[in-house]
Amino acid sequence: MVLGKYDVVVVGGGHNGLVASIVLALHGARVALVESRGELGGLASDGVSLGVRYPRVAYSLGLFPRNLAKYIGVDLYLSAKLTNPSWVVVDGDSGETVFRWWVSEDALEEEFKEYGLGGEARDLVSLLRSWSECSDLILYSTEPPDLQGASAMLENCSPFLGEIASQRFDNGLGMMVPRDLWGILTYPGLEREPGLATLLNLWNKGLWYQLPKGWSPLMKRLEHRARELGVDIYLGVGTARPDIKEGRVVGVTAVGGKLAIESKAVLYSASLAAISNFLGDYIDLLDGLRLKELESAARSAVKPQRVTVVGRCEPKPPGGFNRNPPMIEVWGRGFWGEFAYPTLHDESRIPGSGHAVAFTGMAASRISDILAYSGLECLDKVESIDSVVQWIEFNNPSAHPNHLPYTGERILNKRPVEGWSDYRVEEIEGLYHGSASSHPGGQVSGVPGHNAAIKVLKDLGVRPSSPLARTS
Ligand SMILES: Cc1cc2nc3c(=O)[nH]c(=O)nc-3n(C[C@H](O)[C@H](O)[C@H](O)COP(=O)(O)OP(=O)(O)OC[C@H]3O[C@@H](n4cnc5c(N)ncnc54)[C@H](O)[C@@H]3O)c2cc1C
Repeated sequence: MVLGKYDVVVVGGGHNGLVASIVLALHGARVALVESRGELGGLASDGVSLGVRYPRVAYSLGLFPRNLAKYIGVDLYLSAKLTNPSWVVVDGDSGETVFRWWVSEDALEEEFKEYGLGGEARDLVSLLRSWSECSDLILYSTEPPDLQGASAMLENCSPFLGEIASQRFDNGLGMMVPRDLWGILTYPGLEREPGLATLLNLWNKGLWYQLPKGWSPLMKRLEHRARELGVDIYLGVGTARPDIKEGRVVGVTAVGGKLAIESKAVLYSASLAAISNFLGDYIDLLDGLRLKELESAARSAVKPQRVTVVGRCEPKPPGGFNRNPPMIEVWGRGFWGEFAYPTLHDESRIPGSGHAVAFTGMAASRISDILAYSGLECLDKVESIDSVVQWIEFNNPSAHPNHLPYTGERILNKRPVEGWSDYRVEEIEGLYHGSASSHPGGQVSGVPGHNAAIKVLKDLGVRPSSPLARTS
């Protein structure tokens, strides 16, 4: 089947591909969205077992900006009740609560004070607020600046924030809290990276929620919005590859010949660590040094340990949160991990169905520890989403949550590699990228999808009407 009526083909139906398609269609573009799997959502997909729907890879929502959700016309929280505190840290040995992240800023400030912070409590909370107020300048940039430029932009908005952004975490943001609290502000491995790498992981004041109903309601909303705007969605087509003539994209063909689409613009919204798989024989068109850099970035990636346990009995989460629990981070000796309890939420409980506990940790933890800390005493299924599963199912060979690492070497104008940060694959005309691999980075935020769509529109000669579109 050869189709020739599209302005843009979006390859990859993860949340970024969906957001990109919606933004393009909002501007009147004719869009085809092509997904290799039989379902949408990518790494933000659900599994089903014992009648329980649970988030399979990503498990919490925190970085999707409300202004983007509003612009694309999607209710982010789908009327779900948000827990307050939204997440807590529990000492794995004593079961005591170490820290609670409250929704209200005043309560959060009090919590920091209880932890022993004096005047820094207020400074920290207002710093996080100024980040959420000033960060649009950086996030929605389609030509991201370098770190110095980004700090200067932030400094104009909030002087202290500009300073914190360029300083290493351990010399800046990390100095504002005792060392034993660093785990609530940054991810392991980012302590020596610029504060901005950490801040990009803390958008929206770090309000992270678990998803009581899994991802599918949100993905369904995105799909519905895309279809409503006229996007044609092709699911289960297998790997799609670009067709290229004389260095320029002319369309997309699915391996196996299920689909061939003609188009002068292709937006690849999957992991750039899998670019060789996508380009096939055209891989030689890429600059050899860039390709090497991408390959080495993908190899050095952190690989989180992701395990979901499913059973018939009701779990008893650490910290004593039995109903509508927040997300629970456990700090134990040699153990760091986060637990989400989707089935303990009133609104998602289906009588007679089982329970799921989603665990993610950064260091390899023993399954016996994961089970013990989870509070689930019976067990019907253990599902581990390791790097092999991520490669085979989601085309994410680096198995990195953000497709590519999120260090100073790989943010802003260096993401995914220098020369490509404006969402164009420079060597191939008409080929764009917009996924967790692109600026401003990963997690379920939708921003890379939005920005890549804006870049495509500009190149097609369409003046973007998105209020979020920025050029500098
Ligand atoms: C273990 C783990 C835990 C995480 N936890 C969280 C969390 O709690 N909260 C959070 O916000 N983020 C989390 N993340 C990160 C988040 O899941 C990802 O950054 C985000 O989902 C990436 O979205 P995406 O749309 O950019 O790409 P993906 O979700 O990777 O989607 C890409 C899509 O493209 C398809 N595809 C690939 N190649 C092709 C091709 N050639 N042809 C056709 N289709 C193709 C794939 O099948 C896939 O559906 C986690 C990630 C991991 C790995």
